[in-house]
Amino acid sequence: MTVLRAGSATDPGRVRAVNQDSVLITDSLFCVADGMGGHAGGEVASKAAVDVLRTEALIATDADGVVVGIKRANDEVIRRSLEEPELAGMGTTVVAAMLVRDALGDHMVVANVGDSRAYHYQGGGLRQVSNDHSVSAELLRAGEITAEEAAHHVQRHVITRVLGFSDFEVDLFDLELFDGDRILLCSDGLSNEVSDEEISMVLGQAEDPSAAAADLVRRANANGGQDNISVVVIDVSETGRGPAAVPEPLPSAPVVATQVPAAKVVVARPTEIADLTQKGDEGWLARRRRLGMRRAITLRTGLLLGAIGLVVIGALGFVWWYEQSSYYVTTSENSLVIFEGRPGGLLWFHPQLSEITNTTTKDVLAMRIPQLRLGVIEPSKQAAQAYIANLRQEHSAAQLLNPTTTTSLPVTPATMSGG
Ligand code: MN
Repeated sequence: MTVLRAGSATDPGRVRAVNQDSVLITDSLFCVADGMGGHAGGEVASKAAVDVLRTEALIATDADGVVVGIKRANDEVIRRSLEEPELAGMGTTVVAAMLVRDALGDHMVVANVGDSRAYHYQGGGLRQVSNDHSVSAELLRAGEITAEEAAHHVQRHVITRVLGFSDFEVDLFDLELFDGDRILLCSDGLSNEVSDEEISMVLGQAEDPSAAAADLVRRANANGGQDNISVVVIDVSETGRGPAAVPEPLPSAPVVATQVPAAKVVVARPTEIADLTQKGDEGWLARRRRLGMRRAITLRTGLLLGAIGLVVIGALGFVWWYEQSSYYVTTSENSLVIFEGRPGGLLWFHPQLSEITNTTTKDVLAMRIPQLRLGVIEPSKQAAQAYIANLRQEHSAAQLLNPTTTTSLPVTPATMSGG
């Protein structure tokens, strides 16, 4: 039976006064959360998320349990920020790994929201398991910018999914484990400062997980320590499978995995990351396939499945059309952004980031923010842009009527015309 040993280290870094990251180590579930938000918000958000997951670790037994845990953590962060005005706007990333024991044997489920990362060190090679949910990483995956451009992109730190505002899709990955494997969870304070090559070297040399975690944090500080740094290292043994034989080639470029269509279910094979991202319940057939169960399919059942398939394809086509036929306005960090799609997506159709506007949450009335966090649906991109323009005018007008409120916006009479 698989045995895990974990170690962690967390440090404010050399620039920030407080540490807004939180880490979690339990027997089966491990997590790094990177909080953000002024005042005490960031610390509170990441700690609240980790506290919820600590409880969820006692009941979660599979990937669905991890997703439920993260959604409950999201609910808790939202509840706290609504309850305590000084915490409004706080949020946190989550990257979690959980050992799952089922008919597949023991394997590791990784889940992430935001830009905190999971890496898998196996057979002497390192690969990034999770996909960053950041503007630059999404543009890179969409093929719109190069890796070099992504590394210097002005919005590389703007994350596109975060706990604390509205619903989101949790990305899931499934890892086959071998003796000697190491799993690394980290906040961007590590991955921004320490290259994959250096991380791989440390994981190949460090005696135990605590020493590896401490060494990685030390190197992040030595390279600048611009942000809070948090690391969890998990050592894998007693899997019943010897060390992975084939060393993975070490990637030369920053590893940002190519995007896998979310609906694709891959049968987990040794050393391969299967993308198990699913919205809602995993289908019966998909689950059997994932568990490696075979079933003879006769011609008649084949025809029946084919007919069902055509109906499903038709229904999915409608859902796709419905999903793509609207836009919505919401907030990301402090900017107003326009997405194509429906808030939270439908099935596995994700909203696509359409525009990051130069309007910030300070340019609109505070009373509009809760609605914006949930997402305001508009029929077209032009309508979404017009809605944002109206919000700005409304705010400007309010500033004129109530001049005691401080503002940095120049207000001209023209901006009042629509308010
Ligand atoms: Mn960070």
